[in-house]
Amino acid sequence: MESSVRTTTLPCGEAIPVLGQGTWKMGEDSRRRSEEVDALKLGLDLGVTLIDTAEMYAGGGAEEVVAKAIAGRRAEVFLVSKVLPSNASQAGLQRACENSLKRLATDRIDLYLLHWPGSVPLSETVEAFEALKKAGKIRHWGVSNFDTDEMQELGLLSDGDKVQTNQVLYNLVRRGPEFDLTPWMRKRGIPLMAYSPVEQGALAYNARLAEVAARHSATAAQIALAWVIQQDGVIAIPKAGSQAHVRQNFAALDIKLTPQDIADLDSAFPPPSRKSGLEMI
Ligand code: NAP
Repeated sequence: MESSVRTTTLPCGEAIPVLGQGTWKMGEDSRRRSEEVDALKLGLDLGVTLIDTAEMYAGGGAEEVVAKAIAGRRAEVFLVSKVLPSNASQAGLQRACENSLKRLATDRIDLYLLHWPGSVPLSETVEAFEALKKAGKIRHWGVSNFDTDEMQELGLLSDGDKVQTNQVLYNLVRRGPEFDLTPWMRKRGIPLMAYSPVEQGALAYNARLAEVAARHSATAAQIALAWVIQQDGVIAIPKAGSQAHVRQNFAALDIKLTPQDIADLDSAFPPPSRKSGLEMI
């Protein structure tokens, strides 16, 4: 994979970009499809080669949008998809993966995540992930929406230490993971993949962020993103449905927040002082 974007390292030793492209809500409206494909393609052109999708998004429609965007350039892309917990059994996972591969028009997923904890025993899911790895259908696996206790439980399982990431809700107004989840993951060298890094667009209209943004001739959304990705071992996967937003998100990589910026952001959006359950969108 080639990328000019700053990278972080997975436990397996592979480097992946700290900025990726989300796809939730893509593939829902056929009139927006070509704009969505063009947005993802531009991201790839800029070196934002990590694309995050899921079988759940638009009932598979988002994976089809991704297939169009990566056609002819699969080798450039680090492809992340997710399996629903209801499909996380030995047989279910294999079937779900085959279906995702068909929709994505590829022969492998780079990182396959369990979308959130479910009722299938985690040991069975881990075994199934490892079987998919052996079969060459996926290269790595990880989890999503796992709180610290769930990561601990995973860590005790055979092959549980093969987990490569935990994708969770994390942004300036969702700082809960900082209390004990991020430290737990950092200690083990497992990057945190932050979803909804601009709080589904809401942070683009935040007045406190706008103040910091003015110092950098940037937008509030760019500051929200810059704050996420300036942290060690954290990857942000904003969803941008237009080329303009893709360009702005890419430019956020160049924003260097000053100690004063960080202090102002900490005062506007305080870090957690106690444990709260992991939030999910
Ligand atoms: P998000 O990335 O925080 O926000 C997306 C929204 O922000 C869209 O409305 C987008 O508008 C807007 N936006 C993007 N860039 C912008 C910019 N530079 N300026 C102003 N607005 C901007 O929220 P998200 O889509 O919920 O999260 C990102 C990705 O994380 C998802 O797409 C999905 O891949 C993943 N995710 C995972 C889970 C999970 O359970 N694992 C849950 C939620 C999300 P436009 O579309 O008009 O550009």
